[in-house]
Amino acid sequence: MQREARRFARQEVLPLADELDPQKAEMPRKFLDRIGEQGYFGITVAAEHGGMGLGTFEYCMVAEELARAWMSVASIIARGQGMGTQIGDSARQDDLLVRSARGEWIGAVALSEPDAGSDLAGVTTRAVADGDDWVVDGRKRWTGFAKAADFIQVLCRVRDPEPGESRAAGLANLVVEKERGRFPKGVTGYQIDKIGYHGFTTWQLDFTDVRVPKTNLITSPAGTAAFKAVQKGLNVARVHTAARAVGLARAAVEDCADYLRHRVQFGRPLSDFQALRFTLAEMAAKVAQARAFYQHVAHLIDTGQPCEQEAAMVKLLATEMAVEVTGQGVQLHGGNGYTTEYRVERYWRDARLTTIFEGTSQIQQHIIADRLLGK
Ligand SMILES: Cc1cc2nc3c(=O)[nH]c(=O)nc-3n(C[C@H](O)[C@H](O)[C@H](O)COP(=O)(O)OP(=O)(O)OC[C@H]3O[C@@H](n4cnc5c(N)ncnc54)[C@H](O)[C@@H]3O)c2cc1C
Repeated sequence: MQREARRFARQEVLPLADELDPQKAEMPRKFLDRIGEQGYFGITVAAEHGGMGLGTFEYCMVAEELARAWMSVASIIARGQGMGTQIGDSARQDDLLVRSARGEWIGAVALSEPDAGSDLAGVTTRAVADGDDWVVDGRKRWTGFAKAADFIQVLCRVRDPEPGESRAAGLANLVVEKERGRFPKGVTGYQIDKIGYHGFTTWQLDFTDVRVPKTNLITSPAGTAAFKAVQKGLNVARVHTAARAVGLARAAVEDCADYLRHRVQFGRPLSDFQALRFTLAEMAAKVAQARAFYQHVAHLIDTGQPCEQEAAMVKLLATEMAVEVTGQGVQLHGGNGYTTEYRVERYWRDARLTTIFEGTSQIQQHIIADRLLGK
């Protein structure tokens, strides 16, 4: 499975990244279909629904291979895996799971708002019940893939917290269905210009009187099972981000090894200089260390063990490592590293995002410190 993902990444993803990233162009529909044919939208979907029925370990392994070529592709597979399928009756859920595994039910996630990023409990987008519908009003920021998606999963406040409840009480996810390539009635937006992660366009969206059927409220299992399901989702997202970071850092190591062998200065290939050899050795060791850690955390998730702290730790360490290692990659390429003629700058630009999204490094530090010291 790893060999096939590596082949796909090298032969199909890398050339696409080289072509589209400089144009800041989103990956096309045809390519999403290719990812679907590979089965990568359904790695963790049960086989009875057309998925591979595998675990977080395999999902992250594939993500590392894809990120080695283009992080955007490693990211988009997260938008299948059964996301946004817990709506409607069980027949609808079965149908959506099959579509999700095939890459025909790809979602965008609208959690963040202009004034609610790290502090998601501060979300102010509201959903008000009206007959058989919810009516959604508010502003979302950073919604990746919003236009090309089949649906947007919107975090809304459906009621105010009762006295004594946490601020997060009363928040719920609604699935806003849409056509690919356009926004649904009542949604307008503009595309945010970014410095990387160009396979995804990223949007600020305004929701004005958007009507969503009541049945599109995401249901989760009751009680402690619900909490465990949410926690598992967060842990998976963090270890998936770590795997993406490892893929990017590995890309820098591999490209640098090639560059050092071929670039000649002072009459010798750069690979003869011990300072550079040792730098590359350190870079490679850090990548291997982060990989072992993400594989360990993926295994904890797959065996049902609590691992909130470990998931935060691996997200923190692997993403900070990727920023450092891809930055060193730019340095080892000299002036060429600072051009768009070599791929290493793309690895750095994409790695730079990994310490920011899916919970910043500081938020991971909070989670870990709270475990060590109490809140
Ligand atoms: C390219 C891109 C794609 C994204 N995609 C999506 C998406 O698809 N869907 C979505 O919903 N969101 C998405 N996001 C949003 C992302 O998750 C947020 O940017 C992130 O959670 C940080 O929130 P913020 O930008 O509001 O920063 P802020 O929360 O304002 O943080 C600013 C700084 O303060 C620090 N900070 C904040 N609170 C604390 C604290 N208590 N203690 C110490 N430090 C703190 C942060 O670590 C950061 O360094 C995306 C963001 C980017 C840049």
